[in-house]
Amino acid sequence: MNYVFPPAAPVALRVAGSESVFPVRRVYCVGQNYADHAAEMGGDGRQPPFFFGKPADALVPGGGNVAYPPQTVNLQHEVELVVALSKGGSDIAVDRALDCVYGYAIGFDLTRRDLQSRAKAKGQPWDMAKGYDQSGPVSAIVPVATLGHPANGAIWLKVNGQLKQSGDLAQMSWKVAEVIANLSSYVRLEPGDLIFTGTPAGVSTVVRGDVLEGFIENVGELKIKLV
Ligand code: MN
Repeated sequence: MNYVFPPAAPVALRVAGSESVFPVRRVYCVGQNYADHAAEMGGDGRQPPFFFGKPADALVPGGGNVAYPPQTVNLQHEVELVVALSKGGSDIAVDRALDCVYGYAIGFDLTRRDLQSRAKAKGQPWDMAKGYDQSGPVSAIVPVATLGHPANGAIWLKVNGQLKQSGDLAQMSWKVAEVIANLSSYVRLEPGDLIFTGTPAGVSTVVRGDVLEGFIENVGELKIKLV
């Protein structure tokens, strides 16, 4: 078969301590998965998880320079634990869900908050708020083989050295296994899928020139500069 033009190469993430790379299929994100962030977004209590997506080619593997996006005056950061799947399925049971995980990374769910607020008010989709170009910087993946499954541990983000977000993975309303199980009731998950698992409170507006540093205990660090 001849393609009418060459297909884009798959997006791939580095695997820490390895020459291998992880080929990305889809990128799912969980909304409002930490109670304190849900509260700052106007949510109430523990609601069932809800999901949105980013295109795989919106990822920025390894971070670095990231273009400040057009069409916004309120770009915000969300630091998140990212789950990388090497197995999938439909209707995965909670007690089998972690068997699907290849490893974990740290990612930023960059958000054009003004576009998201407008979309929320009108009942419109979030794609242009959440899935724009370079909206998903993400670190190398640390395999489960070396890390295990981090159920707790510090997660924080600094802007220009100033602490903005600080929490613990244990604060997640829906744990990783529950997120995988719930998501797999809506879509069939496949090897290569990533899941951004939500962010703790403290999201704030960033501007061109800002340096964002994120950290998750035992998982790694991620640094970007908005240019
Ligand atoms: Mn998010």
